[in-house]
Amino acid sequence: MDHSQFKANQTAAVYVADGLDAPTQEAFEMHMMDCPECIEDVETWRAIKVNIPSRVRLANAGVHGSRSARRSDRATLSLPRCACP
Ligand SMILES: [Zn+2]
Repeated sequence: MDHSQFKANQTAAVYVADGLDAPTQEAFEMHMMDCPECIEDVETWRAIKVNIPSRVRLANAGVHGSRSARRSDRATLSLPRCACP
């Protein structure tokens, strides 16, 4: 793979998430030695990854509360009543 393919596949993001298979990771690490832009991408994604846990906690809180699901049920139930007066 070359730089444009790494970019197109968001390889830097997957690399930071430890989601690359071994050959791709090796190729990407080799490529980064000559590509400051991809190193910058990895650093950017690392910075984003640091912020991920708080977002996950928010998502889990929504699942545990399941209030949003109940609200959407009420919304769908109330729609027919409004459509057929
Ligand atoms: Zn690159």
